[in-house]
Amino acid sequence: MATRTLKCPKCKTHITVEGEPGEKVDLTCPSCKKKGFFTFPKDIQKFELDYGKSNRVIEVNNLSKAYGAFTAIENLTFHVKKGEVFGFLGPNGAGKTTTIKAILGLIRPSRGLVKINGFDIVHQIKQAKQHVGYLPERVAFYDNLTALQNMYFYAELKNVSKEQCMPLIEEFGLKDHANKRVGKFSKGMIQRLGMARAVLGNPQILILDEPTVGLDPRGVLDIREKIKEVNKKGVSVFISSHILSEIQEVCNRVGIINKGIIVAMDSVSSLSQQLQIKPKLSIEITNISEKIIDAVKKVKDVDKINRNGSILEIFCSAEARAKVVVVIEKAGGIVVNLQTKDPSLEEIFMKFTER
Ligand code: ATP
Repeated sequence: MATRTLKCPKCKTHITVEGEPGEKVDLTCPSCKKKGFFTFPKDIQKFELDYGKSNRVIEVNNLSKAYGAFTAIENLTFHVKKGEVFGFLGPNGAGKTTTIKAILGLIRPSRGLVKINGFDIVHQIKQAKQHVGYLPERVAFYDNLTALQNMYFYAELKNVSKEQCMPLIEEFGLKDHANKRVGKFSKGMIQRLGMARAVLGNPQILILDEPTVGLDPRGVLDIREKIKEVNKKGVSVFISSHILSEIQEVCNRVGIINKGIIVAMDSVSSLSQQLQIKPKLSIEITNISEKIIDAVKKVKDVDKINRNGSILEIFCSAEARAKVVVVIEKAGGIVVNLQTKDPSLEEIFMKFTER
């Protein structure tokens, strides 16, 4: 099963459609009711297909939320599969937190359906949220209580053994601060405690809204490692973040939201293929010259060349790489260093969220 977001040719509403490779899916635009169809390409990446319809831990269908006359999110349809790390990206104000709040039943959607572990978040909220850990965008605790007292409080709320609290505080680097009042904590310390609270009770699903905001590089690394660690144990993770390198490192799939609409959803490598973003080849040449640059320009599949001192940055297909090196040497160039860099999520993000 694969997902694509299409634009209605008549009213430009975005429509998310799911199907199998080669499948022709009939469509009706939810806004203007125009009828049409979409045929999925036969060569969809294997990764997409491994994620079948069963085993969905979060299902979002045609979710919309309006605040008065302003539509914050519109017709979102996507799912998070059991055991995957799903990255949810978008510029400021795109609708990430609104989506997360609707998934968790913290706001009532204007339209659409959300299911967690098969339970409807509106009508079966208790069952739906039973196995979910959540880190909100703005983490809040009781300032007058210590870190440990706060954790005890949430352990009671979640009906979890208090014995988990201290080890979690230690795990998130707050051992020396367990008995300090949270009111005296820095933003980064509160964020760490928020993560400890989210994983309290070993939830099967973790929903993290900007988990590394306010953290120092060590903290960012710790959270990333923690996400990988819990995911290895089978926990499904939904994570929204602005730090794209972090998402690229940990996520199996990403969804990109812009102005309340999902504009892309796929693995990072499939998205870069779709956009035809080519990998970057950096070659250091001791005797770089115009003759060498001209020779490289003529190689088929070389898109763009930047010169940076003795380094040539070449955007080209993987197949063209070997040829590039050969023509450089034929033109008399002496190659002393060579590196390739895959397309970054940042490039993909910028393309999909161009204004
Ligand atoms: P950021 O990355 O800046 O946190 P976001 O992608 O999480 O942004 P949301 O907080 O979901 O974005 O907001 C989406 C849009 O909805 C924004 O334009 C915001 O101003 C608007 N919005 C959010 N909450 C409300 C509200 N309670 N009342 C009115 N408008 C709101």
